[in-house]
Amino acid sequence: MPRPIVATVHPEALRHNLERARHFAPDARVWAVVKANAYGHGIERCFDALRSADGFALLDLAEAERLRALDWRGPIHLLEGVFEPRDLELCSRLQLWHSVHCTEQIDWLAAHKTQVPHRVFLKLNSGMNRLGFTPAAYRSAWARLNALPQVEEISHMTHFSDADGARGIAHQVAAFEAATADLPGERTVSNSAAMLRHASSALRGAQNLAADWVREGIALYGSAPDFPEHGAAHWGLQPAMTLSSRIIGTQSLQAGDTVGYGSTFTAEGPLRIGVVACGYADGYPRHAPSGTPVLVDGVRTRIIGRVSMDMITLDLTPVPDAGVGAEVILWGHASSGDAVLPIDEVAAAAGTISYELMCAVAPRVNFVAG
Ligand SMILES: *Cc1c(COP(=O)(O)O)cnc(C)c1O
Repeated sequence: MPRPIVATVHPEALRHNLERARHFAPDARVWAVVKANAYGHGIERCFDALRSADGFALLDLAEAERLRALDWRGPIHLLEGVFEPRDLELCSRLQLWHSVHCTEQIDWLAAHKTQVPHRVFLKLNSGMNRLGFTPAAYRSAWARLNALPQVEEISHMTHFSDADGARGIAHQVAAFEAATADLPGERTVSNSAAMLRHASSALRGAQNLAADWVREGIALYGSAPDFPEHGAAHWGLQPAMTLSSRIIGTQSLQAGDTVGYGSTFTAEGPLRIGVVACGYADGYPRHAPSGTPVLVDGVRTRIIGRVSMDMITLDLTPVPDAGVGAEVILWGHASSGDAVLPIDEVAAAAGTISYELMCAVAPRVNFVAG
């Protein structure tokens, strides 16, 4: 029998979360963001549930090829554009839409020989200071692209640094409006956090911020981008992944006994603990401290001691009957009953975000759909 750790991907939850985007951004088209192998869920595994999206956004050309191999004929957007000139050949062949965020990418396009003019998303650096043209350089970049026979249509794009937090997006929206004022073309600005928190904010003109395309990533997978201010349930999102395993051993401790490497946990009195087939080599965060929540047979308890490569240890006090074989939910849904452990809570306990946990589930974990 394989080790009992399993990642279950829930197609119904993916469908539901995509519908939530339709609810929050009813006038927009929705990019399902499936970079990083669909945030660790598996592009092929998610594809059927997400095929009612208006397009798929990602950044690895090999992942774009996988979508075309699934016979997806609709839009695919390369969020970082191309990495070298010959990538443009694949864009022409597979009809990939791509971001253009730097002058080098315009130079490459200008030198590219193609029968098929490209649709591009010109990216504004509105304050995030990662990719994109500064407001001062934006219009001349647009004019250069607009003059190229290789370019069929130019849309406008930017990305927010604080859509999930206190600083908000107003300063970046203002920069975007100023830079793109009067330029024709569609707009895409919102990630999940902007879609959920700011969708009704106005862009200048009749457009709201959710026009024309929203880029839904983390919300598709059922996590709240602004946890702990809001949880997934607040936004009506359902977890798209459950990471589960089983207890493979138990110990009965006495006061003063310690647990695991470094003896970081000491029992204060008699304590029954369970040992779970899940460790950092499965992608569980090694930094998760004693107290990180977990479900055993649907009942909430906590991990104790250090996470090791292949095992973690749990306090079984709230579940005295649980023994070898008991179901352990690291995040997601219990297999029976309605207990849910939001991945956001586990991530927060471990000092990280859900994105990192989803993307880090290791190849040795068996993935199933359910
Ligand atoms: C990853 C990404 C998104 C999706 O962000 P979420 O926070 O997961 O919704 C949107 N836009 C760009 C440019 C991205 O790289």
